[in-house]
Amino acid sequence: MAMGLLFDAVKCIGCEACASACKEQNHLPGPVEEHTTAYTWTTVKSKEGVFSRTLCMHCEVPTCASVCPVGALKKTPEGPVVYDAKKCMGCRYCMMACPFDVPKYQWDRPVPIIGKCILCESKVKKGEPTACASVCPAEATIFGKREDLIKEARSRIEQHPGEYQDHIYGLTEAGGTAVLMLSSVPFGKLGLKENLPSEPPALRTWQVLSNIPDFVALWALFLYGIHWITARRSDVAKAEGSK
Ligand code: SF4
Ligand code: SF4
Ligand code: SF4
Repeated sequence: MAMGLLFDAVKCIGCEACASACKEQNHLPGPVEEHTTAYTWTTVKSKEGVFSRTLCMHCEVPTCASVCPVGALKKTPEGPVVYDAKKCMGCRYCMMACPFDVPKYQWDRPVPIIGKCILCESKVKKGEPTACASVCPAEATIFGKREDLIKEARSRIEQHPGEYQDHIYGLTEAGGTAVLMLSSVPFGKLGLKENLPSEPPALRTWQVLSNIPDFVALWALFLYGIHWITARRSDVAKAEGSK
């Protein structure tokens, strides 16, 4: 069952409880930062007089997963696009491929991994709402089945047509996303990309890559070799340091 989030910029009061709850739920160090980083997976900012949330959109067909040569990112049937640090080799293709500029790198670590919202996968698997939705005091971030969230979003637009843009962001953008957004101002003013194609970029990625299978396989092997050596050196350094 595909779950998701609806963020309603009209209702958001900018309290940032969602951003703090995300830190706590995911044991992310430090305070909530100005922009999303490997340690701050969601932010809330005032733009054009309304509050805008930034987080992974959990694309229906995620480009980040389609370009990852080692399968470190994957879409789960419940909706979250999750990340396995143990598989990641640090090539950062996902960062370059994401149409929403979401994955961030741990630039400060010797063996960096990627950080991004994982839609509270462990909670969602148990049928529980995400931490950010649980704490929202204004029903600005709500959790539910994607199809129910679409109905709720349509209902909010219909009931208050003067307050909302007549569009649900994420319904079709980049092939559709599990995170949907409503706004009173054009979505571009919230910092969201407008005019994204409704065809998932991931499909186009595969169309291109499928023409060069040998290159992809060899490049993946090469990068994996580098990753293995880096990790190995790190492990050796740690082991030697503990002597
Ligand atoms: S928004 Fe970016 S990181 Fe998130 S699922 Fe889509 S492609 Fe992946
Ligand atoms: S869904 Fe979970 S991981 Fe994503 S922003 Fe909300 S609290 Fe953080
Ligand atoms: S908790 Fe809700 S009202 Fe507060 S900033 Fe987040 S989305 Fe907005």
